[in-house]
Parts: sequence; C-alpha cells; structure tokens
Amino acid sequence: MTNQEMMNNRRILVVDDNHAIHDDFNKVFHSDIREANLDQARAALFGSPQPLQESERFVLDCVDQGQRALTMVQSALKEGRPYSVGFIDMRMPTGWDGLETVERLWKEDPALQVVICTAYSDQPWDEIRRRLGRNDKLLILQKPFSSVEVLQLASALCRKWSLAHQVSKQLSELNQLVEERTAELQRTNDRLTHLNQCLVRTVADLDAAQAEISLKNTELERLASRDSLTGCLNRRAVYVSLETAFAESREQGVELCCVMVDIDHFKSVNDQFGHMVGDQALQAVAACLCSAVRLTDIVGRYGGEEFCLVLPRTTLAEAAEMAERLRIRIEGEAGDRVRTSFKLAMTVSCGISSTKLGADTPLELIDQADKALYAAKESGRNCVMVLDPIITGPNARDLVEPQVQRITPLPPDPEDSL
Ligand SMILES: [Mg+2]
Repeated sequence: MTNQEMMNNRRILVVDDNHAIHDDFNKVFHSDIREANLDQARAALFGSPQPLQESERFVLDCVDQGQRALTMVQSALKEGRPYSVGFIDMRMPTGWDGLETVERLWKEDPALQVVICTAYSDQPWDEIRRRLGRNDKLLILQKPFSSVEVLQLASALCRKWSLAHQVSKQLSELNQLVEERTAELQRTNDRLTHLNQCLVRTVADLDAAQAEISLKNTELERLASRDSLTGCLNRRAVYVSLETAFAESREQGVELCCVMVDIDHFKSVNDQFGHMVGDQALQAVAACLCSAVRLTDIVGRYGGEEFCLVLPRTTLAEAAEMAERLRIRIEGEAGDRVRTSFKLAMTVSCGISSTKLGADTPLELIDQADKALYAAKESGRNCVMVLDPIITGPNARDLVEPQVQRITPLPPDPEDSL
C-alpha cells in the first residue's frame, strides 16, 4: 500500500461462524441500498451528504473461524496491506471464541480496531474487560445491529486507524530524526574530544620542551659565566657581580672589600713542570679559595694566575684577616693537591682594597687592590697587603691618603739568629 492508501485504509475483516452474517455484512457494505445508507451515515458523521468517492469504498473479507482470521491478518501484514477494522463474533462454537480471537489478533497486529458483535446472553462486559483490559481499540456492537450502525462504526474506526497510523508514522520519523541528530552530535562530540586530547598532549609536550629549554638556558648561563678550568666565575662574571655588590654597598652604606690574589712564581711552575702541572696548580689554589669563603662572597679567576675575591658587608680588617688565613692555607695545602713526584711549594700574594677608600667605580676598587698586590710582590711575595686610608694631617678633616700596610708578619731576619 502507498502512504496515501494507508492514510485511507478501509480494509475490513469479518469473523463469524454464521455464513448468513457474512452475507449481511456484504449487503451492508456492497448492496445497492448501500448508497442511501452511506449517505445517511456520512450525513450523521460529517454533517452533509456527499457523493461516494472510490476511496470511500470498503474492502471486505469474511472468515468463519478465529484461526483463519489470524492467518488472514498475518498475510495482510506480510503483504503490507493490513486490516484497519475487525468485526468479530463473540460466540463461535468451533475453534476460538471471540475473546481468544481478539487476543491472538492483537498479539499479531496491535493496531487493529475491533468491534465485538455480541448478544445480551453472551459474556458480560466485566468479563470482556477483565480478559482484554481497558482498551480504546475495542467497541461492542449488540446484536441485532442495523446497517447504519455498522457503517458508522466502520467509517469512524477506519478514520481512527488512519490517524493513529499517521501519528505513529510521524513519531517514528521524528524518532529516527532524533536518533540521526543524536548520532551526529555524538560523532561531533567524539571528534572534539579527540581534538581536545591532541591539544592537551601538544600543550604538555610544549610545556616539557619549554622546561627543557629553560634547563639548557640555565646550564648555558652557568657555563658562560664560569671559568672552564677552575669552575670559578670568569672575569666578565666577576665584574658583573662586583658591579651589583658595589651598587648595593653604596645604597646601603656598608663596606665592601676586594682581594686580588696572585700565585707567586707561577711562570716558573709552568716552565719547570709543564702546563698540565700549571693547570693543576691553578685548580688547587681555586679549590682552597672556594672552600674558605662565605656563601655571599664571590670567587673569580681574573686572568692568568690572578684571582679576585669580592667580599660584601666586610670591613677592611675582616678582609685582611680572611686573606691572611687563605694565604696560610694555600702555603700549607695547595702544593699537596698537585700530583707531582715531590711536594710543590706554592704561595700567593694578596692585595686588598675597601670602599671606605672612596673608590668611585668597581674598576677603581680593583685598581686599588692591584696596587696593594703590587706592593705585596715588591715586599717579597707570600704576604697580604692592604691599602689603608691614613689621615695625613693633625685632625680628622685633613686629607685622607691611601697607604699600603703589610698584614703578614715579616719573616725573622736570618741575621738575627746568628
Ligand atoms: Mg456465532
């Protein structure tokens, strides 16, 4: 059946053991007097008589047993041309009775509209309702019935069947649409979830790469600021650190000292034992310096065999004491750290300057320490000299002149022991 035919389905099945009843139904639906009756029925149902259309004709099948009715309903469904209304006799002595027939037919085709044809002496309404339940697809037609009743019932129930079919079809189409949209949304959601996961992984990868770059940068920075042989700060980094410390010293009005340390007779170590031993000597002095200073102090290799210590928040007297301790330690330990067949005698000379001398720049502070170092070299090496401000006039407002002062006690004069 086409959809249009389904919308106007007027296929009717009559189930009655009495063949005379079949004839009656045939007469109602197909006899010559049908027109008049139909006009009456239509007038009753729709208000105004209209000529009968081909589409308004009923198609009638009659069987005499419930089992045969079931076979007809099954075939009709299979062929896609279901019955819309069944007129079913209640009392059928052979085979199923009317109620059982209705039960079986509804199991097969729940949409079938049913009219039970019954006499007063047949089963009471309560029994029918108990068996079939409350159901809006069921009507009772009391025998004997008139043609008009039958036609009215047939027209109304066929229309009801068609409307129910239409609603069911639209619901089914709506459900299918909802399912399609839901599936589409699910697919979109899956794609978005997948994209989101990719994005999260990419962000995590980027974070990891960024962290690795930061580590490498830190390492590069460290390498760029270090002297590769001794591990101390290189000259550039010392100068940067000194500039910072110098500025802080000025801002906070605290004293800052600079110590220049030079290995005595280093050239002869290189000449005598080679550069490998010379390198070890540099590493030995650097190790002694680094292990003896405070966390806030700065140790750098200033150039060749020369080291520079920056001592923030330190007085000249404290710096002198520290440098003297370092000098003694290097004299005692540094030679042992160099792997030679005999003990290498290693000493250093130190020159110290302080911001209290009035240096205007970090470079001037270094120059002043260099002056003191020069004096230490001149004074026979292996000693500490400071550049100390000495008041040259009779009162405190007189000129302050830096003068070199020896910290290391002078060795005993060999002449004295004689
Ligand atoms: Mg009967």
